[in-house]
Amino acid sequence: MRKDKLIMDEQKKKVRRLLKERNAIMLAHNYQPPEIQEVADLCGDSLELSRKAAKTDAEIILFCGVHFMAETASILSPDKTVLLPRLDAGCPMADMITAKDLEHKLKELPPMPVVTYVNSTADVKALSTICCTSANAVQIVNSLDVPEVLMIPDRNLARYTAARTKKKVHYWNGYCPIHDRLKPEELQKAKNNHPDALFMAHPECRPEILEMADAILSTSGMLKFAGESDRRSFIVGTEVGILYPLKKSCPGKNFFPASETMVCPNMKKMTLTDIIRSLEHLEGEVKVDEKIRLPALEAVRRMIELSV
Ligand code: SF4
Repeated sequence: MRKDKLIMDEQKKKVRRLLKERNAIMLAHNYQPPEIQEVADLCGDSLELSRKAAKTDAEIILFCGVHFMAETASILSPDKTVLLPRLDAGCPMADMITAKDLEHKLKELPPMPVVTYVNSTADVKALSTICCTSANAVQIVNSLDVPEVLMIPDRNLARYTAARTKKKVHYWNGYCPIHDRLKPEELQKAKNNHPDALFMAHPECRPEILEMADAILSTSGMLKFAGESDRRSFIVGTEVGILYPLKKSCPGKNFFPASETMVCPNMKKMTLTDIIRSLEHLEGEVKVDEKIRLPALEAVRRMIELSV
């Protein structure tokens, strides 16, 4: 055990040295393993990370997350090299709709804006009217001067939004397998075990789970809410990686997963060894072609303009 820790400490030092030598910035999503979040320059949610990295003078963005996140970094920072140390770290929800699927769906519907969750591929963003995050989805839909919208790819985020807008929300039947698997019975067990805890749910959870929530929040929203609350205990309805930044930012408070099974295997693929290899050999580059990048950037930019 002690030997493993020594090896990991050496790897972390090596990562920091390589980052400096390469003039690289390391980003880690809130769901990444603790040893990766510990060594990163910035931790947070995917869009927030890409926006911050775009403003730095780093030549390389090393993204510890999944493929669509590295694409978003490339969309916002076309002049930087974006590395994803594990190119096989994908997002099953993002992959549930392709550009072809979307084109087909649009032919079935009367003309309406497409509101696309940032958890989507660049190809799909490029065909979209505007992007949204889990934090601003309702605001984005309400800001559009139309009676109907199509929301993709997450049916749960779409149903959450539909319940908070007067507009008709059509949606794609995609979902995050990690959030969608949380069932009321399992959550009820966690609530019974921790009767004093507030339950924070992510909008990617099913509607019946959201009905049981004290607060419905994005990952960044959870960090803010827990920090500002005068309550000491929280049940957390999102991927378990978030427990690390929650405990770090709120020492003395208690956080319990709504279910130990809420683990995203793609978010756990990357290791310090992969990161070292990627930085040493510039392996795992993700670059969005200009034909896709420019319309995708438009959809992201419209969202940013509406949500500041
Ligand atoms: S937690 Fe869900 S939405 Fe996030 S990367 Fe994993 S599968 Fe995709």
